[in-house]
Amino acid sequence: MNVLVINCGSSSLKFQLINAENEELIAKGLCERIGIEGSQLVYSPTGGEKVTKVVPMPDHTAAVKLVLDALCDKETGVVKSLDEINAVGHRIVHGGEKFAVSTLLTDEVIKGIEECNDLAPLHNPANLIGINACKELMPGVPMVGVFDTAFHQTMPREAYIYGIPYEYYTKYKIRRYGFHGTSHAYVSRRAAELLGKSYEDCKIIVCHLGNGASVSAVKNGKCVDTSMGLTPLEGLIMGTRSGDLDPAIIEFIAKKENKSIDEIMTILNKESGVLGISGGLSSDFRDLEGAHDKGDEAGTRALETFSYRVAKYIGAYMVAMNGVDAICFTAGVGENSPFVRAVICEKYLPFMGIKLDTEANNKRGEDIIISTNEQGPKVMVIPTNEELMIARDTYALTK
Ligand code: ADP
Repeated sequence: MNVLVINCGSSSLKFQLINAENEELIAKGLCERIGIEGSQLVYSPTGGEKVTKVVPMPDHTAAVKLVLDALCDKETGVVKSLDEINAVGHRIVHGGEKFAVSTLLTDEVIKGIEECNDLAPLHNPANLIGINACKELMPGVPMVGVFDTAFHQTMPREAYIYGIPYEYYTKYKIRRYGFHGTSHAYVSRRAAELLGKSYEDCKIIVCHLGNGASVSAVKNGKCVDTSMGLTPLEGLIMGTRSGDLDPAIIEFIAKKENKSIDEIMTILNKESGVLGISGGLSSDFRDLEGAHDKGDEAGTRALETFSYRVAKYIGAYMVAMNGVDAICFTAGVGENSPFVRAVICEKYLPFMGIKLDTEANNKRGEDIIISTNEQGPKVMVIPTNEELMIARDTYALTK
């Protein structure tokens, strides 16, 4: 059974076709600049040559149509016809409190997702456009929604309630939701396998460190806390997002710089994080590490501040779980930066007795334990695979 996994953004659409039985990737690709001049499709069949097509894509329906044509193409395609695409799994950013698990997309469920638009106005509407485009072009093919927030719905109340008047929770559902849930679920499950323990019997901290970054505490197979909040702005310092902040800073900057709330939110989302801390040097950790290597203080400042915040959350989540068996690193930075992993573990967490194996820490692209200490937590690198998680859930609900 083949599952098409769709991750639809406002002007982009990423896809993977996965054989859900043997979990092999059949093809993957990306549509960029949808609705903007210069749109293009990049399509990579597994084992074949990458195809790039610059074609106008006025809307997402046109993009999905191009993807389906590419998959069925006589020469470079991977299936004979659309009949060989048996189900579609959609990544959906916000499921509010309504969706605690992946769900078959009926008309009623789609309406429920629309009702969550308020909570993720930049993301959910784009996800829905992708759903509607697939519905139009593949009528009758079952579709499943996999929510970024769902895995975190097991958090206890003390972890998700904010210290503001409770009526804002009851009236507007303002609370911690958390994001990257599909990644935290995938990595924590895999960590239990590497530990050789039952998932229901271990304490795992997952550090998803990419452009967007979040930490989660997974105790006995359930998320008990996570660093992102009502929106993905809270928690860690990210590529361009500030993470945790004294809320009074917003008013302070507004007055000093004569700025509106909207302008300040743009600063906190797009001009802050390691980009802001490094004085505008870069949001990309490769550039920051390069600058640090050359003795540029701006790079060091950003990397240390970022790493310290991650370590602080690891400490906090040991409290949330009363201990920890494994600390896992994943996503762009987590998977690819031995330097950041070493700073977090060796500079800021020496009390935990972690000893990193330099050779293992320098490896890339595999699930690996990089610590050698007998006592204390094991440190792991586990490349995330959100698409595979989406395909698994879609298969489970539609097979
Ligand atoms: P997102 O999905 O949130 O956009 P990713 O998980 O793809 O982000 O992570 C992207 C980030 O990973 C880049 O901004 C870059 O800083 C970082 N990254 C990628 N490769 C490396 C590397 N070799 N060393 C350090 N950082 C890297």
